[in-house]
Amino acid sequence: MTKSTARQQELSFAIIGGGMAGILSAIKLRDAGYTQFRIYEKADRLGGTWRDNRYPGIACDVPSHSYCYDFEPNPEWSHTCAPGGEILEYFEKVAEKHGVTEKVVFGAEVSRLAFADGRWHLECQDGRKDVVDFVVAATGVLHHPRYPDIPGLDAFAGPCFHTARWDHSVPLEGKRLGIIGTGSTAIQVVGAITDKVGLLTQFQRTAQWIMPRPNPAYTEEEKAEFRRNPDAMRRIRDEQLDIFEHGFSSAVVGENPEALRAIEALTLANLEDNVKDPVLREKLRPDYQAACKRLIMSDNYYEAIQRPNAELVTDTIDRIEPSGVRTASGRLHELDVLVLATGFKVDQFLRPIEVIGYQGVTLEQAWIERPSAYLSVCVPGFPNLVMLNGPNGPVGNFSLIDVADIQLEYFLQLVACVREGEFRQFSATPEAAERFEAERVEATSKTVWVSGCRSWYLDDRGVPAAWPWSMQRFRDVLGSPDLNDFAVA
Ligand code: NAP
Repeated sequence: MTKSTARQQELSFAIIGGGMAGILSAIKLRDAGYTQFRIYEKADRLGGTWRDNRYPGIACDVPSHSYCYDFEPNPEWSHTCAPGGEILEYFEKVAEKHGVTEKVVFGAEVSRLAFADGRWHLECQDGRKDVVDFVVAATGVLHHPRYPDIPGLDAFAGPCFHTARWDHSVPLEGKRLGIIGTGSTAIQVVGAITDKVGLLTQFQRTAQWIMPRPNPAYTEEEKAEFRRNPDAMRRIRDEQLDIFEHGFSSAVVGENPEALRAIEALTLANLEDNVKDPVLREKLRPDYQAACKRLIMSDNYYEAIQRPNAELVTDTIDRIEPSGVRTASGRLHELDVLVLATGFKVDQFLRPIEVIGYQGVTLEQAWIERPSAYLSVCVPGFPNLVMLNGPNGPVGNFSLIDVADIQLEYFLQLVACVREGEFRQFSATPEAAERFEAERVEATSKTVWVSGCRSWYLDDRGVPAAWPWSMQRFRDVLGSPDLNDFAVA
């Protein structure tokens, strides 16, 4: 840890959100010598998405030795891709170990952030207030559940819940369970519960390409070796990140056609080899390019959906009735429990917090068309505020932990300029943000995300909202801020 100077101790920070990125922010701020910071967390527990998503089968399909902080390798991961509960526990343990938990204000839902007199004035729902120099927005991307707009949804007589609000008090054994959706979440749920329920009906609007993903458990000997020799974990991590970055990540942004062909071949072979019934196989065959939507990884979905008690319904949902789901053909699928695996509102970011920047301009006004951020981190007119995993960042194709880390380091360099007295405020200029956005939109035309599918990667224009270049470019561009792109005061 850097020794704090008086100036470092004067500067204050509010971190909004106590998930992976919020915990990381607290650790990095302290490591950089800053002591005046708090995490404002609306829930009563840390963990973000891993706290909220507790559905059966939840795991991270990014291998665990690379889905963790590089400074906190974990020898105890049970599997290559650990279950969600272990990941939640990991983040909580790291927070405790680094003294983050004591810096958290729990049950504090920030409702307003206003920039006035050179500082951010923060207010919570319950009236708590704070005034800080900097705001770190670590509010997550996949946070606000998206409920489908299907007629009659409220009329369903049995338990009905979104996957991010799983009701564990509802018994599933022997029940007729319906699940709407075929995203990464639904695929994990179906893989985990089909052998437990009486009947599983999955409502598919769009078929998915699925990458086989064996998920072996680590043996006790392997874990003992990891404990003894942390370098062994680092090697695995480096290897996994290297494969990911130079294979998958470069493929989706159009820089590695060979890797994209390999993904296509693997997903196609997975379907052909593992789904026996030709009718079901055709229902499960997507009509778009692999990796256009977020690629699904699974080692148990095809097996589950082929069980005698599972049915894949491709007929469009017409409406929901008290006793089940009626599809366009007129058939009523009678159900006891209905699960909505229908994804998230991905354009919220800091919202619904009311954020007021320079000259009374609100974030709602700045984002009247759609959310955007210069280099994914700064919004013009909202000084001294950094977005982690905010708009236009590399989501979906890179490790969000690494992304948040790079964004934070970038921000800390700007904060260091404030600390050194070079300026007190910094805000990306509108020109820089517009230039970045124009280049970004142009580059999206080379990505696989525009190859002809519907996905949460696309904005209201059908343009991918994500960073459309390589991870290396992200590292390079965010390696040191270009002060020409900032208005400072
Ligand atoms: P999602 O990928 O957005 O999928 C939502 C699903 O619901 C889609 O199949 C969608 O169909 C369907 N749907 C939505 N509205 C519908 C309607 N009105 N009628 C019928 N179907 C409807 O959501 P998700 O599965 O929760 O995943 C979101 C993201 O979370 C993933 O892409 C991934 O980034 C992340 N995630 C990661 C992991 C992991 O292991 N790392 C696990 C789970 C989730 P269409 O496809 O036709 O739109």
